[in-house]
Amino acid sequence: MADCLFCSIAAGTIPADVVLETDDVLAFNDINPAAPTHVLVIPKRHVDSAAGLGPDDAGLLAAMFSAAARVGEKCPGGWRLVTNVGPDAGQSVIHLHFHILGGRALGWPPG
Ligand code: AMP
Ligand code: ZN
Repeated sequence: MADCLFCSIAAGTIPADVVLETDDVLAFNDINPAAPTHVLVIPKRHVDSAAGLGPDDAGLLAAMFSAAARVGEKCPGGWRLVTNVGPDAGQSVIHLHFHILGGRALGWPPG
């Protein structure tokens, strides 16, 4: 999608610190990390958010969760998967992404 930051990262036209790539999914370090491990997992094709997912996206979701699990392996103490949807949740990039956070004790509930 034109003018989408994460589509541009997926296409390689904007650089990112990539940690994992598959046919359908890219994972890269968050530019403003909130924890020692803070990786974003995105689908290469544009989906606005988790609100745009449906039964046809089962394979894509499996690929995203599988990538998240691989990223989480570097956090033996545990890790958290978060996806923000819409303004109340603080979604700032309108392209589906999982935040994978770990490497320190994480508070709950989030703010
Ligand atoms: P959210 O607020 O849930 O939409 O998360 C968007 C995330 O993208 C934030 O944690 C930002 O720090 C991160 N971010 C924004 N621009 C970039 C970029 N160019 N490379 C990596 N992460 C980014
Ligand atoms: Zn996009």
